[in-house]
Amino acid sequence: MSMSVLKIIPADQEYVPSPEQQATAVAVFREMVPYGEIEATVYEDLEFIDAGQYSEAVLCPPCGKRVAVTPFEGSDPAQDWYRNLDQAITARTTPVRQFQTTCCGASVSLTSLQFDMPAGIARFELWAVDPDIVTDVKVALPP
Ligand SMILES: [Zn+2]
Repeated sequence: MSMSVLKIIPADQEYVPSPEQQATAVAVFREMVPYGEIEATVYEDLEFIDAGQYSEAVLCPPCGKRVAVTPFEGSDPAQDWYRNLDQAITARTTPVRQFQTTCCGASVSLTSLQFDMPAGIARFELWAVDPDIVTDVKVALPP
């Protein structure tokens, strides 16, 4: 049985909200997602917040190419490159800040990568499992 996961990350990849801000974010998120598990996660370093099985492609910043990474569409080298990227970020065996792209061989920063299905790099993540989203929540955030 498959499950869906809704992930929300800050636009600023290095941003980690204070504990009070995290509690507020969880409370607001709970209004949007009234049922099921939700959680806020803080990572020690940048984390690859991927789209799981829905990951389709990486967009190369220097050349603008869309590098497909799925078995249906992507070449074997592109799939290997993506798998290595994911594993390098997850394993943290070395500081991962620069990558060589598979399309044009450019060296790009981890934080400049963009993804065809929503994904990103972040130190903070708010997520919900099998969210049944309420879209008409009105929230007044503290100043
Ligand atoms: Zn490229």
